[in-house]
Amino acid sequence: MSDTAQLLVAIDCPAEEAELQARRAVDSLVDGGVIASETPDAVWGRVGHAPGPAFPGAVEGDIGTRPEFWAMPDGVEVETGRSFVADPSFEMSLHCPRCVTTFDTDPDELGDAAMKWLDGDDATYYACRACGYEQPLAEWDGPHPAGFGYLALHFWNWPPLKPEIVQALSEVIGGRIRVVWAKS
Ligand SMILES: [Zn+2]
Repeated sequence: MSDTAQLLVAIDCPAEEAELQARRAVDSLVDGGVIASETPDAVWGRVGHAPGPAFPGAVEGDIGTRPEFWAMPDGVEVETGRSFVADPSFEMSLHCPRCVTTFDTDPDELGDAAMKWLDGDDATYYACRACGYEQPLAEWDGPHPAGFGYLALHFWNWPPLKPEIVQALSEVIGGRIRVVWAKS
């Protein structure tokens, strides 16, 4: 079985604030019982914080109706530093704010742009495939976006977090959070 990562990417968090905001995010999740404070070497095969006692209430759906592998998800990893997260196929589905079209990315184009951004080019733009509107990579949202930033929380094999949990974290760190799904 492949692993699924639900990634919360802090797209507004500057590099110099990533460590601080990471601590704030983790403290908030620990205080709410969503994750445990300990970070054993391996939690169910993944390094990171184990699910906390309140995790069932933080995710969508009823425990009893979930697939069995979601009954106890893996750990939550915190990653700081310049990185992007995307499905390895780079086949993302984005929504253009100008022409209001939802389009599939060209994996080669998006991959090239992502590598430029990773190399330090903050002015890397990506263009809508329908109307040509360009905006910075991190701004692109849609049904299946990628995420670009300096702070990401990897929820390994977790059911979808409730929107209010994501919203609360966004308020804690003082910036937008992009939710990205990826398989590995
Ligand atoms: Zn467009």
